[in-house]
Amino acid sequence: MLIKGVVFRLEGELPHEAKFLFEDFRLAVNSAIRVGLQARVTSRNALTRLAYKDFRAEHPRMYAKHLVSAFEVAGSVLKNHRRRFRKGVTCRTPFVKRLMMKAENQAYKLNRKSGVIDLPIMAGCHVQLKLIVSQYHRKYLDDAALSLGSLTVLPDRVIVAFRKDAPKPFVSESALSLDTNERSLDGVFVEGDVVKAVKAEFPDIAIIQQRHHDRRKRLQKKKAHDRRTSRNLCRREGTREHHRIDHRLHQVADSVLKFAEERKSAIVLEDLKGFKSKRSKELNRRLSMWPRRKLHQIIEYKAQWKGIPVLKVDPRNSSRTCPICRRIKYSRMGPEFKCECGWRVDGHINASINLLQTAISKGMAGGSWFNPGAFQHDVMMTLYAPSRGARSEPNGTSDIVGVT
Ligand SMILES: [Zn+2]
Repeated sequence: MLIKGVVFRLEGELPHEAKFLFEDFRLAVNSAIRVGLQARVTSRNALTRLAYKDFRAEHPRMYAKHLVSAFEVAGSVLKNHRRRFRKGVTCRTPFVKRLMMKAENQAYKLNRKSGVIDLPIMAGCHVQLKLIVSQYHRKYLDDAALSLGSLTVLPDRVIVAFRKDAPKPFVSESALSLDTNERSLDGVFVEGDVVKAVKAEFPDIAIIQQRHHDRRKRLQKKKAHDRRTSRNLCRREGTREHHRIDHRLHQVADSVLKFAEERKSAIVLEDLKGFKSKRSKELNRRLSMWPRRKLHQIIEYKAQWKGIPVLKVDPRNSSRTCPICRRIKYSRMGPEFKCECGWRVDGHINASINLLQTAISKGMAGGSWFNPGAFQHDVMMTLYAPSRGARSEPNGTSDIVGVT
């Protein structure tokens, strides 16, 4: 089962009855957290058994199903707390600070035509929430294959979970093998025995990381006398950084998936799990792995949603092996991979060819094979290139797919 949370804004203010519900919900969650900590339980059912009766007595009119989902929220807070505790992170007793509420799919009604949510608050009292529906939202509301999951209501927005069964991945007719680097995805596209180099560039992500890193450094120095402010400002910088990078990663992933979908390609990626570099701390930060891991996550998730097969292969030695004669190089090389057998190609592309061959050897590349004679050295297909001076938000020109 795949779940996709879609954020809606509300038309107009939240009705004030709903605010009462929020406060009750928060109270219920926080008391359940306390009960759970005392009794050392985290499951929704155990919490319900322990605390339901008292709550019912204290809030006799609250809608019973909301109470149960309050226990569920408390359960997930407790689970996170326990995980942190086990890792040895010192942390205070958790509590929910902001106003929010969650409703299970039987506990609300959404009219998918009009975009109006009917949310029961207590016996005989319902509120109507009118959602602002854009074209993007229509895509989800009108898709009959999607069923409704839980609803999360926040003071200024609503998150609706849409669910669907994972579609069966299509049978691939070609393969797109990509090596993930700090500033680009580089790889090869293979159809039958024709091989072309492909590239999706995202140089601005490293720039954004650098810029926010510098800002945090500056803030820490400037606010050295006030650690609380410094921490808050740094956290804000971090959130901004994540948003800006996320946005770009989604664009890159979308172009890659569009390409793969149109050509019925299986996507081959390196498995970044357990990837540890032995570089210095400073370099480690600069080459931080999370944008790359995040990009893989986005690609995998979206591919699953669209039924595009994704293969993850072990990247060991992929940048040092010659795909023709299988020699492994141990010396450091420049940007180009050169082998005694005469094979020479861009180092990143070479790595992706090795990933592809691993995928082929496992019978996972849809009848494609790597034919070095058919490799078109002079052709480069651009999957994604940011528009110049791309500090700005999307402008619709970024996913240029074609031969350049
Ligand atoms: Zn060789």
